[in-house]
Amino acid sequence: MEPQQRSPLLEVKGNLELKRPLVKAPSRLPLPGSRFKRGLDQMEDVLEPEKKRTRGLGTATKFTSSHPRAPAITTVPQAQGQTTAPKVPKKTGPRCSTAVVTVLKNQKPGPAVPAQKPGTAAAPPKLGGKKPSKRPAWDLKGQLCDLNAELKCCRERTQTLDQENQQLRVQLREAQQQATALGAERRTLEGELTRVRAQAEQGQQELGNLSARVLELEERLGTQEGLVQELQKEQLELQEERRELATRLEEQERRLQASEAALSGSQAEVASLRQEAAAQAALLAERGERLHGLEMERRRLHNQLQELKGNIRVFCRVRPVLPGEPTPPPGFLLFPSGPGGPSDPPTHLSLFRSDERRGTLSGVPAPPTRHDFSFDRVFPPGSGQDEVFEEIAMLVQSALDGYPVCIFAYGQTGSGKTFTMEGGPGGDPQVEGLIPRALRHLFSVAQELSGQGWTYSFVASYVEIYNETVRDLLAPGTRKGQGGECEIRRAGPGSEELTVTNARYIPVSCEKEVEALLHLARQNRAVARTAQNERSSRSHSVFQLQISGEHAGRGLQCGAPLNLVDLAGSERLDPGLALGPGERERLRETQAINSSLSTLGLVIMALSNKESHVPYRNSKLTYLLQNSLGGSAKMLMFVNISPLEENVSESLNSLRFASKVNQCVIGTAQANRK
Ligand code: ADP
Ligand code: MG
Repeated sequence: MEPQQRSPLLEVKGNLELKRPLVKAPSRLPLPGSRFKRGLDQMEDVLEPEKKRTRGLGTATKFTSSHPRAPAITTVPQAQGQTTAPKVPKKTGPRCSTAVVTVLKNQKPGPAVPAQKPGTAAAPPKLGGKKPSKRPAWDLKGQLCDLNAELKCCRERTQTLDQENQQLRVQLREAQQQATALGAERRTLEGELTRVRAQAEQGQQELGNLSARVLELEERLGTQEGLVQELQKEQLELQEERRELATRLEEQERRLQASEAALSGSQAEVASLRQEAAAQAALLAERGERLHGLEMERRRLHNQLQELKGNIRVFCRVRPVLPGEPTPPPGFLLFPSGPGGPSDPPTHLSLFRSDERRGTLSGVPAPPTRHDFSFDRVFPPGSGQDEVFEEIAMLVQSALDGYPVCIFAYGQTGSGKTFTMEGGPGGDPQVEGLIPRALRHLFSVAQELSGQGWTYSFVASYVEIYNETVRDLLAPGTRKGQGGECEIRRAGPGSEELTVTNARYIPVSCEKEVEALLHLARQNRAVARTAQNERSSRSHSVFQLQISGEHAGRGLQCGAPLNLVDLAGSERLDPGLALGPGERERLRETQAINSSLSTLGLVIMALSNKESHVPYRNSKLTYLLQNSLGGSAKMLMFVNISPLEENVSESLNSLRFASKVNQCVIGTAQANRK
């Protein structure tokens, strides 16, 4: 791509730019003879002397060319016949006369002897070598002689002129022939010129086209050159990129080789790991088998432990003195240490009661009577909710293993039953009751057991039994405490399972859902409360959780209900009180409560004594709980005690009832396995 090297097309254009006139270029057309090589101007130059000569004859050429057929010869004799100044001969033809007249016209008309222009050929001959002097008038002979001489001269001159005229005619003919030839030649040349011009025009046009083409090609060339430059640039970039890629490729290849080496190492490792994994899987299966065996063994031992602890257990809990309450006298309640010393959890409680009536009879105040009680566990006023729950956690877990569990809170109103079961006010986690704690514990153990292939589901219900009527505490939108009428029915014909009609059974799987249920139950109780009648303390609240577990892999199923019961206040109506209309109602309530609580006692006794008839149906409470009492069931009773001296009578009643229960032993529990 050397810029100096120009294409042939550019050469053409260069020539065009020089603007050489084409007409000046010698024609390449073949001309006929060398004569035609001369231009028209030269031809005219040839003719010029002829013209010059003819000009001297005035317009003679004019008429000879315009009247070629005029008989030129005829004029000579006529002219010869003239002796003097010419006159128009009448007998001559119009053409001849015109020629003569024209000739004569060009000569100035004047005297008979025409004045000779100096230098002309027809100058009069000088006579005797000198101009004759003027003859006197009288010398007529001399004058005649002069005239003759002059005449002679004129004749000679005429002759000369005729000859000249002849010559001129010849020349004229030649000239005319030449003119004719030249005319033909001119026409030929004009034709040629026209053709050449046409060619020139065509050439110009072609040249124009070529110029346009050249411009176009130059433009394209420019574009192509730009493109070439761009491509060259791109090529450089690509080369650079290629170098980079080659470097990277080398790097990648190196890495690949390293990876391949590592891979082959890894493959060997994988193979050995696979073998190891297979061995581990076999071991795992074996361990799983063993784990299952161990789990079953754990359940068996757990149950044995629970049985050793007793299928009916009684815990006594004494609530603290609340702010504003009178401080009980020192030593009113004592919690003696167990056989293992103070480190042993307390199981005994001593209550000192001063009997004023006995004192007045003897006149001396009688010493307070000591009442000792022993339970599976005693919780003094300072015991926290967590401490209490710790003791029942294992029992709750029995429900997961398939043993029905029943936990009661028994005691007079205000002794702390609801606090123990549901928890204290304000949602403080520290004072959370047994129900939320038990459920949280169950959810977490169920989660652990899911690792061993167990799947658990929980369904909750919460009802209250007031005056032997059952009401759903989870009923949404309950108005004025009047929930739908609920009845305790068998789940199906021939089924042992009991269910409460119109009550909601809600699946739960997390703490929040349980919280929501407890909140709803509290709201329903608050609606039912009236100024005169603290109904919640006059009714039993039964929280039931139906637990269902399944081990799909082994086709095992287990399920048992967990019952958490907040019993109605166990206090008796003061027999000394006057019976007004309100008190009568209260009496009826109390009788109902007392009846159901004593039925509970009777049922437990009957179970303990293995009586053939257990009076479950004597109260709604025992009827509802019959599947969770006796047999394989495990029962725990909290007896809640007020620390106040004023409540000593009710406290003793509660402690006595609880002691009776504590003496009961219910037969060996059987897990509900299917
Ligand atoms: P009940 O349900 O037996 O009628 P509550 O559970 O309502 O009695 O308790 C009565 C009052 O005593 C409540 O204000 C409760 O907060 C409080 N209380 C009960 N037990 C305890 C305890 N262990 N610690 C602190 N306060 C308690
Ligand atoms: Mg209560």
